[in-house]
Amino acid sequence: MKIRGAVLQECGRPGPWQQTQPIAVTELDLDEPGSGELLVQLEAAGVCHSDLSVVDGNRVRPVPMLLGHEACGRVVRTGPGVTDLAEGQRVVLYFVPRCEECDACRAGGRVLCTPGWEANGAGTLLSGARRLSWNGEQVHHHCGVSGFATHAVVDRHSVVPIADDVPPDVGALLGCAVLTGGGAVKNAARLEPGEDVTVVGVGGVGMAAVLVAIALGAGSVTVVDPLPDKRARGLELGATRALSPEEAVESGHRTAVVVEASGNARAFETAVEVTAPGGRTVSVGLASPEARSSISPLALVSETRTIIGSFLGSGLPAQDIPQYADLWRAGKLPVDQLVSGTIDLDDINHAMDELSAGRAMRQVIRF
Ligand SMILES: [Zn+2]
Ligand SMILES: [Zn+2]
Repeated sequence: MKIRGAVLQECGRPGPWQQTQPIAVTELDLDEPGSGELLVQLEAAGVCHSDLSVVDGNRVRPVPMLLGHEACGRVVRTGPGVTDLAEGQRVVLYFVPRCEECDACRAGGRVLCTPGWEANGAGTLLSGARRLSWNGEQVHHHCGVSGFATHAVVDRHSVVPIADDVPPDVGALLGCAVLTGGGAVKNAARLEPGEDVTVVGVGGVGMAAVLVAIALGAGSVTVVDPLPDKRARGLELGATRALSPEEAVESGHRTAVVVEASGNARAFETAVEVTAPGGRTVSVGLASPEARSSISPLALVSETRTIIGSFLGSGLPAQDIPQYADLWRAGKLPVDQLVSGTIDLDDINHAMDELSAGRAMRQVIRF
């Protein structure tokens, strides 16, 4: 079938991308779902820093690639072997498929699915197939999702069904920002009620960590970010304190749980520095492969601290996403507050400029 989607043609093309247009919004071909796959009509997709990292070349991926990995939509058709999802079911897509059969999947959650991770690197679905083509050339899938499009074919192991009362923009954010930022607090740090939390880097994922920390009963929540606008927004969303990275380090600020959601080596150092003795530093930001940090091994040992890397929320999306939806439904997790603007698919290059400049927390494409 013919769909409309946002195809990245080159990683690392210099910006501003509104002018250089590395992403073509175009008509392309989508094959029917294969065995274990389904066709989804997208309703909303969030523009995340991990999309930007492919555009700016921080994370090089095979191109052409149809971007977008944080999305929500409805099942249109199921391929052979998919019996538990009906037409019309709303689903949240998530960005590393879980085959449920490999050693990593059987180990229970914290480690990423081995074939799922390999498929993401190759730009295919979990089966190894590519269902997208453009002018006769195969187009790669982004994280098994490729949600910046009117429709997507995805593996059953890339979706979680969600109730109809969850709006599409909220559903989309549950699939990456909330899953990642929330999982850092809930699953990786295992926050105890009353513990103090600091979040270093408050874009969409970091701000989701703030909201989940508050929802789970954190004692205080401090946001640390170099941008004054982001610090102000953190306070609006319920953080108790906002500091620049320099202020945080120089003032001796320290908390039991620290989440780094910035994806650069300096932010990671700051996060380690502001972790209290006995505390946990959780890193979820995706730094470039060349990035290196400098930390004190002695401080780590003598203060008996823990550093934890977390991806996909260190848990099971099929369990976590409905739990976050329940918190949203109870009024405890105002995910809609993370949406900084609604845009059209045609605005995608401009949206990358906005995200890169730190002017947007979560821009959501509506279809
Ligand atoms: Zn993301
Ligand atoms: Zn697996």
